[in-house]
Amino acid sequence: MSLIKHIYISIPFCNNFCRFCNFFKLPPAQWLPFTRSSKLAGLLQKEMLLYKKILPQNPVSIYTGGGTPALSGKNNLKTLTAFLKEQFCLTNTETTIEANPVCKNLENIPDSFFNRISIGIQSFSPQALHKLGRKIRPERAFLKNAAASYKNISVDLIYNIPGTGPEVIKNDLLKCLHYNVKHLSCYTLEGFKNDNKYFKTEYNTILTILKKNNIKQYEISNYAAPGFECRHNLGYWQYNYFLGIGPGACGSIPYPRSSDGVIRYRNYRDINKYQNAVNNGRVPCAKCKVLTRSEQFNEYVLTGLRTVNGISTAYIKQKYSIDFMKEFKNHLDKFRDSLCIKGDKIKLLKNGFLYYNSIVSNFMKI
Ligand code: SF4
Repeated sequence: MSLIKHIYISIPFCNNFCRFCNFFKLPPAQWLPFTRSSKLAGLLQKEMLLYKKILPQNPVSIYTGGGTPALSGKNNLKTLTAFLKEQFCLTNTETTIEANPVCKNLENIPDSFFNRISIGIQSFSPQALHKLGRKIRPERAFLKNAAASYKNISVDLIYNIPGTGPEVIKNDLLKCLHYNVKHLSCYTLEGFKNDNKYFKTEYNTILTILKKNNIKQYEISNYAAPGFECRHNLGYWQYNYFLGIGPGACGSIPYPRSSDGVIRYRNYRDINKYQNAVNNGRVPCAKCKVLTRSEQFNEYVLTGLRTVNGISTAYIKQKYSIDFMKEFKNHLDKFRDSLCIKGDKIKLLKNGFLYYNSIVSNFMKI
């Protein structure tokens, strides 16, 4: 049985280039030739088949992200999804596609395949969008149609935007709730810094409004109605293996020479190099390394403490032979007001998440 449960498909096509965005993306001049005759879909299929021996039969999740996957066009998405249907048993598989809130996006997405849509709204406020340097304005018809087609809608919002106040995130949340959004990812521009004027107020506004609507925080930036937690992202935070497919995609797969080893890789960001490798039957990895035990431990702590379930000291002992309580006793004492320690579980409290960066860096192995 394959140890891989999650597949990420990267379609890093973008034609906007918003000022705040750090994701890897390609400009139209580079990706346009790949939108013709299902060219991109053909490459993604070939790459996936290079991993045939380790592909899962019934993946927990398949996440198609970007960029803006819909820019690859109807034909590419149709061909890709037909291949995925043929290749995998998709019973209970969470199938997500990312989209921008413009109607053209929705028209290009084959509605029978994806059971979840993740919409990058960022904000409904023209003033906030202007500050973000984002030209895409959410279209009302898009949200109405998305709400009619998908039960499982996730929205990305940005808060703590310089030059705006708490009323912006409040209105953004209320609009999302109006469209029956079940999952929200609320990010700040510069990570969880606690020195901005409205930061704490805005964070607490999010917690309060969403709690009233039965949407709970399950990760530092993520909130969901019961049963709507993103299974794909939970896979990352629970430190599961995942296959990354497509230009610039990252993956984390088992190391065949050891029972608990991890290979971390990143594909070529240059789409022509990516194409050449795949067409010549080679995995298109630009970088690849086997993680050391300390690196694995650090990642487990970094990702685990982002979630409301936290980390398990019993698991750390068994997997990394580290006595966490003993080794980090001083720091556990220092941050006890921000942490909850119960049995073998250590979690950050809701207020502790505000100081995530400064706390977590103390629990790393060098
Ligand atoms: S947020 Fe989306 S549309 Fe904006 S630059 Fe990033 S990938 Fe492109």
